[in-house]
Amino acid sequence: MYIARILYPVKVLGPGDRIVIWFAGCEHQCPGCSNPELWDQNERYHTDLNSVMNLINLIVDQHKVDGFTITGGDPFYQPNALKELLYELAKISSDILVYTGYSYNKIKDIYSDILGDIAVLIDGKYIEAENHGSLLRGSDNQDILILNENVRPIYENYLSTHTSSIQNFSTTDGIISVGIHHPRYEEQLLEISKRKGLEVKS
Ligand code: SF4
Repeated sequence: MYIARILYPVKVLGPGDRIVIWFAGCEHQCPGCSNPELWDQNERYHTDLNSVMNLINLIVDQHKVDGFTITGGDPFYQPNALKELLYELAKISSDILVYTGYSYNKIKDIYSDILGDIAVLIDGKYIEAENHGSLLRGSDNQDILILNENVRPIYENYLSTHTSSIQNFSTTDGIISVGIHHPRYEEQLLEISKRKGLEVKS
């Protein structure tokens, strides 16, 4: 499997303190995508289920984990890896939120077994003109589909009490900015950094 990064505690991609997992590989090529570096399955992202679960269990053993968010890239670009990982994650928490660029209608019959372990699916390609800063959704054409009714109260409360925000993580790969960024985010960040004499790599 190809997984680019795992971060915790992410507070801006679902309710509570979450482990977020970025899959590498995506065929949608949405203009304005904030993670084009994850379109390809670079060998540096190659890993296996044991290594991923060892890291996740290390976090779970030491911290409160309210749920998982799986994004990318497109997790459904690696359906077998996604299925294996979901099987393990579901033993830890039933609150698993997954992003995909495919529409729910396109995958619901092919991947019904995978969807059974997903609590919330946010589907559809990113359309920059429809990015209005909505909570959890990159663009307003995407739907937040609650597939597990047990989590509905948690998500309804979250969606009615939170607004979209950004969280920055300092990692060995530099600063990783997590959340739904508005279309001019990078341009504005470059402007501010330039004024402050800082160097920014995109
Ligand atoms: S589906 Fe997501 S990762 Fe893939 S190109 Fe679109 S926005 Fe980028």
